[in-house]
Amino acid sequence: MVDLGITGRWREWFERSGHGRLVWPTVVAVRHVYAIALRTRFRGIAVREGVLVEGAVGWGEFSPFWDYDPARARAWWRAAVEAADEEPPAPRRTRVPVNATVPAVAAADVAGVLARFPGCTTAKVKVVEAGQVPGADLERLAAVRDALGPAGRIRIDANGGWDVATAVRLIPRYDRAAGGLEYVEQPCPSVEDLAAVRRRVSVAIAADESIRRAEDPLRVARLGAADIAVLKVAPLGGIGACLEIAERIGLPVVVSSALETSVGIAAGVALAAALPELPYACGLATVGLLASDVVDDPLVAVDGALDVRRVAVTAARAAGVAADHEVRQRWDRRLAEVTSDPDRRP
Ligand SMILES: [Mg+2]
Repeated sequence: MVDLGITGRWREWFERSGHGRLVWPTVVAVRHVYAIALRTRFRGIAVREGVLVEGAVGWGEFSPFWDYDPARARAWWRAAVEAADEEPPAPRRTRVPVNATVPAVAAADVAGVLARFPGCTTAKVKVVEAGQVPGADLERLAAVRDALGPAGRIRIDANGGWDVATAVRLIPRYDRAAGGLEYVEQPCPSVEDLAAVRRRVSVAIAADESIRRAEDPLRVARLGAADIAVLKVAPLGGIGACLEIAERIGLPVVVSSALETSVGIAAGVALAAALPELPYACGLATVGLLASDVVDDPLVAVDGALDVRRVAVTAARAAGVAADHEVRQRWDRRLAEVTSDPDRRP
């Protein structure tokens, strides 16, 4: 166990002494480093790794992907510390509707994937994955519509895989193949390109990477680049940071996960529960994409929604997914990097 912090008494002194908002050090302690296999490869990875920390009010998760540099990983650390140390905001609902996630599988496998999301009437379908052709995407979308029926909602996520011309050409075809799309998430990489596509297609546009990777997440709204904002708690630095963005961006919000265990998902659910409006299903039904979890009662969808509740890591579950010595050392080094410079904020 690595003790990263100072005691609660010192923290109180620090806050009373007028040093301003306390970012570090914190009182959380690292309890577990996990390594859990993914059932299907996502983002090119087969194993999800991360750190679970325990603080004054509960558990937090620090699991930035390895392509995140220390400056960006700091936002994940702030989110983990917030979850462990601060009470979540007051919930406005007790259940959060969630969508099924359909990775870039063959059309024949779609029904099997959807069966893992009982009661979900919204599906998010990955498209434009490397090595795939539009024909495979179109067949997958038709299979999703077959499985969900006419009342189901289908959204696609292109992860910035198109240029403007391709997006404008293909979105209407994808819309027809799906029998109507709810929205297209991040069709192009840049905010300017999103705005250009949005002016030229009738399907709604959602911004994901354009918010969480941007220096200024509100630029999307200023440029008229999106109809919907996708917010992810960890990359954006916590529930409080997301609520502030949600208020200032003035767009309907879809809360999504970053492929966390139930600990990270619980923070997403707390954010979704606290939003004034929640018109769309959230992308939080993702613990089933992991082969295992760290709590006894994972946050899995029942009747298409997640309960708003806390979760607690059990020693037995954590031991079952404990990372080996080499992986633990890698995360120790990463934490040292991320927590070493208190004054730099991403
Ligand atoms: Mg996305």
